[in-house]
Amino acid sequence: MEEQGYIKYNENVENIRLREYPMLHGTTYLDHAGTTLYAKSLIERFSADMISNLYGNPHSASTSSQLSTRRIEDIRLRLLGLFNADPEMFDVIFVANATAGIKLVMEAFRDQEDGFWYGYHRDSHTSLVGVREAAKQHRCFTSDAEVERWLDDDKKHAGNLQRPALFAYPAQSNMNGRRLPLDWCYRPRSTENRSKQPVYILLDAASFVTTSPLDLSDGDVAPDFIVLSLYKMFGFPDLGALIVRKASAHVFNRRRYFGGGTVDMVVCLKEQWHAKKSETLHEQLEDGTLPIHSIVALNSAIDVHQELFGSLEQISGHTAFLAKELYDGLSSLRHGNGMAVCEVYKGPSSVYGDPRTQGPIVSFNIRNCYGGWVSNAEVEKLSAVKNFQVRTGGLCNPGGIASFLGLAPWEMKQNFSAGQRCGNDNDIMGSKPTGMIRASLGAMSTAEDVNSFVEFVRGFYAQQDFPLSMQAPVPSLPAKPPTASPFHVESLTIYPIKSCAGWQVPLGKAWEVRREGLVWDREWCLIHQGTGAALSQKRYPKMALIRPSIDLDEGVLRIRFAGSLQTTTPTPELALPLSADPTLFSDGSTFKQKTAKVCGDSITAKTYKSIEISHFFTQALGVACHLARFPVVGNGSQTSASSRHSKAHLQPHQLPARLQIPGAFPDTQPVPLLSAAKRPILLSNESPILTISRSSINRLNELIKEDGGKAAQAEVFRANIVVAENLESMPGAEQPYAEDHWRYVQIGHQFFEMLGSCRRCQMVCIDQYTAEKNEEPYVTLSKTRRFDGKVFFGQHTCHMPFHDVSSPLAQNPTISVGDLVSPYQDGDSATGLLLESLVNT
Ligand SMILES: *Cc1c(COP(=O)(O)O)cnc(C)c1O
Repeated sequence: MEEQGYIKYNENVENIRLREYPMLHGTTYLDHAGTTLYAKSLIERFSADMISNLYGNPHSASTSSQLSTRRIEDIRLRLLGLFNADPEMFDVIFVANATAGIKLVMEAFRDQEDGFWYGYHRDSHTSLVGVREAAKQHRCFTSDAEVERWLDDDKKHAGNLQRPALFAYPAQSNMNGRRLPLDWCYRPRSTENRSKQPVYILLDAASFVTTSPLDLSDGDVAPDFIVLSLYKMFGFPDLGALIVRKASAHVFNRRRYFGGGTVDMVVCLKEQWHAKKSETLHEQLEDGTLPIHSIVALNSAIDVHQELFGSLEQISGHTAFLAKELYDGLSSLRHGNGMAVCEVYKGPSSVYGDPRTQGPIVSFNIRNCYGGWVSNAEVEKLSAVKNFQVRTGGLCNPGGIASFLGLAPWEMKQNFSAGQRCGNDNDIMGSKPTGMIRASLGAMSTAEDVNSFVEFVRGFYAQQDFPLSMQAPVPSLPAKPPTASPFHVESLTIYPIKSCAGWQVPLGKAWEVRREGLVWDREWCLIHQGTGAALSQKRYPKMALIRPSIDLDEGVLRIRFAGSLQTTTPTPELALPLSADPTLFSDGSTFKQKTAKVCGDSITAKTYKSIEISHFFTQALGVACHLARFPVVGNGSQTSASSRHSKAHLQPHQLPARLQIPGAFPDTQPVPLLSAAKRPILLSNESPILTISRSSINRLNELIKEDGGKAAQAEVFRANIVVAENLESMPGAEQPYAEDHWRYVQIGHQFFEMLGSCRRCQMVCIDQYTAEKNEEPYVTLSKTRRFDGKVFFGQHTCHMPFHDVSSPLAQNPTISVGDLVSPYQDGDSATGLLLESLVNT
């Protein structure tokens, strides 16, 4: 750490601030990674220059034109000088911004005879990521180690490269300020035996050079292309630059476009011919009139910057010191219970205070004292009110954001489908934040900026004492210690495609539960091509052989058909993206869009347009059908008409009052605390979840076997939750049909309301493994479980969200196999307590 000796805080900056940055009065500017600020002297000096000189359009013989040309050439040299770049070896192309520089390089490679291979690092800005769209082949390196392996692995690589390669990465991530290895600037190129096709390197230095020197004095180890945003360095002018190593300038020879000053002669009439300028690279690439006045301003910008702050080394030391203060300050903030307030997104090898590995950017999210996420949109609004200028959201860095926030591609697409966009308020989805808060420092940042921001976060987000009502996010129920219950969750099953086979949630996997039910349950259905009605196993028993499964790692729904197909060329398995990608669905052009009907109700399901998918199901079932998907339902905060539509009709049942098994929910005991006005939850009439009990199945099967019938598998009841009693329960102590009397249950940390008993039909007679029909268990059910002419088995169940949504239990409600199940019955003293605590939280 000896080298860090020079890192110190520059107190002069405080005086400079007062004098040179009047616009910073009364505000704390922490978005230098967006753009730094221009000094007052810079604007004054530029203005004086403009007023005293006559600058014409370059490329002509007049003195005003000559003056412009001369100044621009001088400034090119000065800019190269900032990076110790020898003009013999490098040229500067002025562009609008760093992105425009990247696009020039991209166009040159796109115009190569056989296109190009493009590799980019995960930490890249969107402007680098977008280059992949022009490449013939591309690869995203998801870690530094992957780049290292690629660099070491030349033999394998040589065989793969049939075309020129471009490798791009940021010298500093604009997301969290991590600085990437600079030896990648030449190592991909220097491995000579790699292939006949050369590898070029594009270094995105837009974020890096704002607070760090970049040394290009050794042309052999310099990247081929370097892009800069000059406004990010100086605050003004709004200009970018592309620095090209002349040894690699030939790449631009194939560039097809010409325009403005880049040609010596153009013939348009009758013959089409042009002569490109050939003297300098910048003449060939700078299309149209240069931003003359911006380039002139750059001169003042460099002057003033050096006068105020000295070298980029000095700025690097000053900002590294402050960044460490900021990082230490934010990461040490604690809630009263000792939990961290900020989750800071720092690279594993980054060290704040060491400018070789880390620039002056701190990205983080805030958690409340329960570990739940605080919405970025909320932080942003409060920051605006308190005059802190920070950046929040996706930060134009898709790879970095996704890896730090643990967002799988399907989740990002899912969030997108559910309405999440960069910059909107939907920033916590599926219990994960979708963006970050970024505080970044610049040459004119001060210790006061850092301290006041840390104090702001502490003051508003560190919860020292718990609000009383929030002390226990889970209602505490002394009257019913959870260990007292003999019930637990035996299995969790979802039915991704309505009426098709179920898929069991793997042991140990916490499964999200929503108002509409378990996630991915009955998200899809099959609709008849003629009538648009949803197909049901009652009519098409073979649906039991369609076996969907959910693969969250790959982000796909897999569908297998366990029966024999009638065709000789069947699709063995379908894999559909879980993300609701709109391009997958028919807009009516493939086949006529039908409004799907589920149990007589019209619903808005979207039909997949793929002929292959329709064919798969049509072949499997022997009925012409399409696969359809229900519209994505947003997170808890959205209750749009469409979300209510989604699954509300899938499992229609009557209102609880008409469903009750006589005596089960005595009418004389209405729930006193749940008056409509005070209801803490959304009580829908939907039946999102079906719960059955193993003890009840056992009792039923005993009776079936007494009569010599075929015992029923639990699967025929198509429940979501199978509740079982603990094995150590005494024989004969089982409580079959106890669930008929449950009013609420706690499963793990979540609460559920029992909506009433489930009415059964002959569908329970379809063997879920063979799709064959039996008599049982319907016959025995109707003998023993018939009330008022209807047959009941199992309980409709609905999740009760916490009213207070700030706890992780509320933001990410999940249940797992093995969770304890604690029932609450009417008349139970604990039930009253439960309701009370639900109303209060
Ligand atoms: C800002 C930035 C860009 C884009 O620069 P523009 O000047 O807006 O085109 C690209 N990469 C990084 C690392 C950046 O910080």
